[in-house]
Amino acid sequence: MESLKLQGRILTSADGEDFEKALQRNSALSVLPAKYVVQPATYSDIPPVLAFATSQKPPLEIAVKCGGIHTSTWSSTNGGIVIDMTSLHAVNVSEDKQSVTVQGGAVWGNVYEECKKAGIDVVGSPLWFVGVSGFLLGGGYGPLSGERGLAVDNIISAKVILADGRIVQTSATEEPDLFWAIRGGGGRFGILAEVQLKAFPSVAPITSGVIVYPGTEIVNVLKLIKEWSATQSGKEKISISFARSGPQSQPSIMILPWVSEDHDGTRSATVLAPFKEGPVKPVFEKTHASPDMLAVSHGADASFASAPKRFSIRGAFVADFYEELILEVWDRWVKFTENPDVKASGVMWDLTKSDKICEVKSTDTAMPIRERNYWVGVQGRTNNPEADAAIKEFLSSTITFIREKNAALSGKDYGFWMNMSEGDEKPEDVYGANLPRLREVKTKYDPRNIFSKGVPILPL
Ligand SMILES: Cc1cc2nc3c(=O)[nH]c(=O)nc-3n(C[C@H](O)[C@H](O)[C@H](O)COP(=O)(O)OP(=O)(O)OC[C@H]3O[C@@H](n4cnc5c(N)ncnc54)[C@H](O)[C@@H]3O)c2cc1C
Repeated sequence: MESLKLQGRILTSADGEDFEKALQRNSALSVLPAKYVVQPATYSDIPPVLAFATSQKPPLEIAVKCGGIHTSTWSSTNGGIVIDMTSLHAVNVSEDKQSVTVQGGAVWGNVYEECKKAGIDVVGSPLWFVGVSGFLLGGGYGPLSGERGLAVDNIISAKVILADGRIVQTSATEEPDLFWAIRGGGGRFGILAEVQLKAFPSVAPITSGVIVYPGTEIVNVLKLIKEWSATQSGKEKISISFARSGPQSQPSIMILPWVSEDHDGTRSATVLAPFKEGPVKPVFEKTHASPDMLAVSHGADASFASAPKRFSIRGAFVADFYEELILEVWDRWVKFTENPDVKASGVMWDLTKSDKICEVKSTDTAMPIRERNYWVGVQGRTNNPEADAAIKEFLSSTITFIREKNAALSGKDYGFWMNMSEGDEKPEDVYGANLPRLREVKTKYDPRNIFSKGVPILPL
């Protein structure tokens, strides 16, 4: 490996702390003992590493890491090579401010810093530490999605490093099949080296924060949300979070609002009045206007810093605001989190207005869910390894329940969401009707399946 003479770094266990640090991920459950961690300094560092890995007997597994946030082990490898893209995190705003070019190792915080300086916004993650590449490859639901669609719907072009070492440009007119596949089909077609995103005038000021109610009020709170959803615009969304809070760790229902272009505070005052001053009284509320996405994306830093590190998520979609389904999941979650080892586990319902997302057809990009939808993430957290099995069971049974109940209520099976999956989902449940085309594209661009991590897409 040393003979490759890369400009970037090659780390092995001989590098001690640096190597150990490079293996760390957002979740302690995502860490695996790689043989090498390569941190490329230029795109040209990467093809020789791919050639080296595939020339070994047996070939070394390749895992690609951006933010390291996905709660699977896809950006890690047991005994193989991690291509850790994090040194490649440059962000450039075009002169006309219509687009932003981002390197494949950046996190959204890198992007928002440059957007802030330029007075623009892009469709990105609500959290600064999420990697740009992983987020995009799985579709990307961001706070701007209500107005602008999914993050993948706002990719203009991308530079991809292929399995055979070629570095290609892809867009609607260049390598269009590859461009289609990377917009929702995951990292199994090549390494995202660079991506050009559409930019928009800043949506700030943005009002966000948290409004907390006791769990005993859940039926009434859901009524308020249902009423709000009837007149919801793309410039506002609410996330509902089930979390235990306070000294007694009581079940609480939290509302995390988002109101953009809230120039004089009147829009948020109108939207949030029923939640703050209505018949149901919050036990705590703190909302405020932020000057830009960078500030908003740091809003949850304190709670993430203290959260247990054995963390996993499974996600699915629902077709409507089904109070009955939400209440059944609430009951399951309350019961499960009575165990103190897992009390930090939660459920998040993201109520982004999906009209804009549905303007794109389910076969236009690899991201298949293009009918009315909201996403839900079931999150397990513990510090106790002995609770891992119980969390796994809770996540798996609850997400399957949500999927099946949604199908029964709506007549539509939305399957599971790659951005919040564990890797044991069936490919057809994640890629839907797009799976056959994804396999054709895989056969063209990675016939030996060297990018093998993620929900499987096998060459034909
Ligand atoms: C707390 C939390 C909140 C979240 N909220 C949202 C949300 O609001 N909306 C949403 O859409 N998602 C959300 N997610 C999911 C998140 O977008 C995914 O987990 C995403 O994969 C993270 O990207 P990453 O680059 O940090 O991950 P990584 O773990 O680095 O990578 C994830 C996958 O992408 C591949 N990959 C990474 N970089 C590259 C590259 N350059 N080229 C090719 N493949 C690559 C990896 O191999 C791996 O398969 C959330 C996750 C968490 C933990």
